[in-house]
Amino acid sequence: MKLTIGKLNDTWNYTVNLNNKNYYLRGVIDGETVEANIQKNGLSILKIINASSNRDKVKCPYQEVCGGCQGLHMKYEYQLALKEQMVERLFKDNKLIPSNFKVSHIISGIDNHYRNKSQIVFGYNSRKVVSGFYEELSHKIVNVNDCLMQDELITDAQKKIVDLIMKFHYTIYDEATNKGLIKHVLIKSTNLSEVMIVIVTNEDVLPGSNNFVKAIISQMKNVKSIIQNINNKKTTHVLGDKSKVLFGKDYISDELLGFKFIISSKSFYQINKYTTPLLYKEIVNLVKNKSYASALDAYSGTSTIGIIVSPYVKKVTCVELEKEAVNNAKENVKVNKTNNVRVFQGDATQFINNMERSHESVDLVLMDPPRSGSTQEFMKALKKLKPKEIIYISCDPHTQVEDLKILINDYTISKIQPVDMFPNTFHVETVVLLTRKNSK
Ligand code: SAH
Repeated sequence: MKLTIGKLNDTWNYTVNLNNKNYYLRGVIDGETVEANIQKNGLSILKIINASSNRDKVKCPYQEVCGGCQGLHMKYEYQLALKEQMVERLFKDNKLIPSNFKVSHIISGIDNHYRNKSQIVFGYNSRKVVSGFYEELSHKIVNVNDCLMQDELITDAQKKIVDLIMKFHYTIYDEATNKGLIKHVLIKSTNLSEVMIVIVTNEDVLPGSNNFVKAIISQMKNVKSIIQNINNKKTTHVLGDKSKVLFGKDYISDELLGFKFIISSKSFYQINKYTTPLLYKEIVNLVKNKSYASALDAYSGTSTIGIIVSPYVKKVTCVELEKEAVNNAKENVKVNKTNNVRVFQGDATQFINNMERSHESVDLVLMDPPRSGSTQEFMKALKKLKPKEIIYISCDPHTQVEDLKILINDYTISKIQPVDMFPNTFHVETVVLLTRKNSK
């Protein structure tokens, strides 16, 4: 059948309703005409009859099977425009900004080889070990050994590890039988070109681990940390509770805006090596020249944001749930000599509730919750805490607008700054500045 493509949805699919059933068409652009038909897995494009001027050559050979990127067929400028429009529409539809409000022009970096973290899975292809990612929404492995989005240091490590797994005759974990040794390999890299390799095993013992480690470090001089993580539970979590350092330290180091940061295997760190410094610079620009007495950095990870804003605030308090990230944060505060930053481990909602109940005074709240957003309880306590300004950083504006609805009677949105942390995917990061209406 011939289809004319209308507006894409927020996950960059086009929805077609046929016989009361919704089909999602991938890889198309608004305004195109395509020939499509219904196949086993849904609707497929047979031919693009009329291509959009925003179409680009698909840059990745794995695009169809992997599903990790949804915009590889779009010119980068067009992806950026779609993200800006989507953010503006979401805030307007939710009546958070007036109709004449303009979202700031999206901040962007380089659209490939930007990811500094990959979780790699393994499988067999006629006895040969292959590596890659899970196919979207499934546990089928797509053999991708040179992902266009990941840092080349990670790709290099991935290829060498596949060879070494075969050389050392390590078996690959099989979910169906719950047998096999190697479950995942998590690889992280930093802007200082330091690499961490975390081998996740289904058993306590990694036979021949000394020689395995020697082989890795002789081939890859950037590897500064090798960790064995034991995860013998049947779970969707990549990392288990137990870890052993096999080589180097249990962290790697990075530098951003003149500050030093360490990152452990379990600590969150922004995943785009090019746009992370731009994101943090934007936050600094919103904070400097304001001379606040006190700030709260909630969902603070390794306290990157708290530390970066610390020259402009008298006292910064950070709260983060993950213990390893909190340990990194405390070390980061020490190394950077930012003695006005205090770090607490705990749940952000409980923490802000306690602050509010003990009538602590906070001028600025910076918050950067996970994709699922914050909690209603956090937002209500935040409203009662009455900070003069709030900077809400989010990697999903859909959950962010829900949270912000709770504040909107008391705060005005002064700026919405999208940042392209995830090029070639539909995801977008947003930094929203809110100013209290009666700032007395
Ligand atoms: N601001 C940091 C981290 C943001 S990611 C940075 O820029 O690097 C979100 C963080 O929230 C993660 O570190 C995660 O561990 C933490 N987190 C998740 N749930 C939490 C909770 N209930 N309370 C506090 N922190 C939480």
